[in-house]
Amino acid sequence: MGQVQGKAALVTGAASGIGAACARALAKAGAAVMLTDLDDARGEALAAELRQSGATAHYLHQDVTDEPRWIEVVAACEAQLGKLDVLVSNAGIGIIVPLVEMPLAEWRRQMAVNVDGVFLSVKHSAAAMRRAGGGSMVLISSVAGLRGSAGLAGYSASKGAVRLFAKSAALELAADRIRVNSVHPGIIATPIWDKLPANPLSGRNAPIDPKEMAAGVPLGFPAAAADIADGVVFLASDASHYMTGSELVIDGGMTAG
Ligand code: NAD
Repeated sequence: MGQVQGKAALVTGAASGIGAACARALAKAGAAVMLTDLDDARGEALAAELRQSGATAHYLHQDVTDEPRWIEVVAACEAQLGKLDVLVSNAGIGIIVPLVEMPLAEWRRQMAVNVDGVFLSVKHSAAAMRRAGGGSMVLISSVAGLRGSAGLAGYSASKGAVRLFAKSAALELAADRIRVNSVHPGIIATPIWDKLPANPLSGRNAPIDPKEMAAGVPLGFPAAAADIADGVVFLASDASHYMTGSELVIDGGMTAG
């Protein structure tokens, strides 16, 4: 899996789904982890679970759209973990709605979490990584950042922005030995789907089942969050030391055709 032993990693949106799986996988592979989220009960519980299994793990409340909080969170990483080597910028939300019905406030809310949050994560982690002599930033985009998606126009726009922001940041930060890559999951069985009440484009008022959604994926099934975490640990590790500005697509073949 690569070497993350001794590295210090910050994972946003770490209380659930892909972020929780990344925190678990990084801790298991030997990294010290700082978990942040809005959901304090689940975030604290996961940090406690990781500490019980012998890892160094802490949890902090963080809204990724709050810039002053970013300064405190990065300072806490350096104070409590000693440094910051790895950022997994994962916190994100998805809103499914026909674009002509999307209220501007909802568009802006999605952009704030998915784009502003990622921008702030990179902006404020960069100085700490410079002090650490380099680092790896892994920005969680989506297959929706590689191609259009009906009903997910705002989400696609936000995830496409993350993709090109990662490449631009990779160019700007390469001289500091800070690598920046994006990850593009396909359909992953996580609670994000439960938060979408129904797909207004499907013509029926039923919650979205990731298994049903994944029936059309070439491999025929949704990924587990741990499948994405495996890719994230690789990008965090020295095994990917020559990769920056790259896109790691983990989608069961969704975008192959
Ligand atoms: P999830 O809903 O299970 O977890 C997201 C976490 O982010 C939650 O714990 C939530 O509290 C947190 N969060 C939301 N807004 C936040 C904010 N403003 N500040 C801090 N934390 C916040 O979702 P997931 O499926 O694990 O998604 C994680 C990432 O993966 C997202 O960026 C999502 O867009 C992306 N993704 C998911 C899928 C999928 O199929 N599940 C596919 C492609 C990409």
